[in-house]
Amino acid sequence: MPLDDDLSLGLETLAIRAGHERTHEQEHGEPIFPTSSFVYGSAAEAARKFKGEEPGNVYSRFTNPTVRNFEQRLAALEGGERCVATSSGMAAILSTVLALLQAGDEVIVSRSVFGSTIALFDKYLAKFGVVPRYVELNDLAGWEAAITPKTKLLFAETPSNPLNELVDIAALADLAHRHGAWLAIDNCFLTPALQRPLALGADLVIHSATKYLDGQGRAIGGAVVGRDQELEQLFGVVRTCGPCMSPFNAWIFLKGLETLSLRMHAHSRNAQALAEWLEQQPAVARVHYSGLASHPQHALAQRQQLGFGAVMGVEIAGGREAAWHVIDHTRVMSITGNLGDVKTTITHPGTTTHGRLSDAQRASAGISDGLIRLAVGLETLEDLQADLARGLDTLM
Ligand SMILES: *Cc1c(COP(=O)(O)O)cnc(C)c1O
Repeated sequence: MPLDDDLSLGLETLAIRAGHERTHEQEHGEPIFPTSSFVYGSAAEAARKFKGEEPGNVYSRFTNPTVRNFEQRLAALEGGERCVATSSGMAAILSTVLALLQAGDEVIVSRSVFGSTIALFDKYLAKFGVVPRYVELNDLAGWEAAITPKTKLLFAETPSNPLNELVDIAALADLAHRHGAWLAIDNCFLTPALQRPLALGADLVIHSATKYLDGQGRAIGGAVVGRDQELEQLFGVVRTCGPCMSPFNAWIFLKGLETLSLRMHAHSRNAQALAEWLEQQPAVARVHYSGLASHPQHALAQRQQLGFGAVMGVEIAGGREAAWHVIDHTRVMSITGNLGDVKTTITHPGTTTHGRLSDAQRASAGISDGLIRLAVGLETLEDLQADLARGLDTLM
């Protein structure tokens, strides 16, 4: 019995049960359908399914039962009418733009979004006449000032990586709608377990499933969730242009979703404790984490989020050398730019994720030389503290 339409069910129940239509084999676990195509009982049935007159599976670029199971489950969690899965988070953003925008349209993007998102707009979409304009995430007046009659889409990632800046999603949705534009929120860092942008008025939620939806660093994938109307256009892009999710990856993400709420709350607990401890360390100049009372938008975080997530920026006094010293003295954490994993990762944004920016661009993005980014995993808290203390305590 598909449970997707039962609005009384809790997030954890939906994450474990939504979307699975049991087959004649009576399986308990969700099956994988590793098949490129499907067969028909008759020529007439084939004709009806090709024309779309009869629902059913045709070809796995656009109809696969395992992928559909993942889509229905994520749609239920985000509270959207429909979800379309894609081959990666970047494919989700690309498909959204291809579906909804055309040459001459403008899109306003928060400056602090994922680096490849900026490259996608500047290097590729600009080539086809879609014009990006960049604003500060937390400056609502700046968003409003950037709107023109050609603005069709507002695109934000909140909280930002790695500084945890936020935007008021409800206020931004209101602004977008007053100007006839869509609001898309990249919900990668909090997931529906900790933030539901559609309920706050956003039109589209975008995911890199690669991160917390999987949660264990095993597969690349993405998704867009929203209303039927826009998602039907997105479906058309994935069907025709082909950035589809593989059934194997969809199955991995289904298994990831089953523990999503449990993991996200555990990530948040570990991160909160580590952030509070880091704030007390003499070698730490500042901790950027929306769960801290010292965070300038802590009240907004408490209002619009159900938790504060796992990603934080930590400024080490003493600049790049001190930051590298702390990173190089870890033994448990992984030195890598990835995140969304049960394994804690540590990185120096100034020389990695933000290394290609000019000094001035880096400064305006708030990426100081002493900044390190932590994506806190689920290891034992004391081990993570000891891992950082080894470097912090030997700095001076
Ligand atoms: C990783 C990431 C993406 C891109 O996702 P991929 O699955 O790597 O293509 C987009 N947005 C955010 C916020 C990300 O962290």
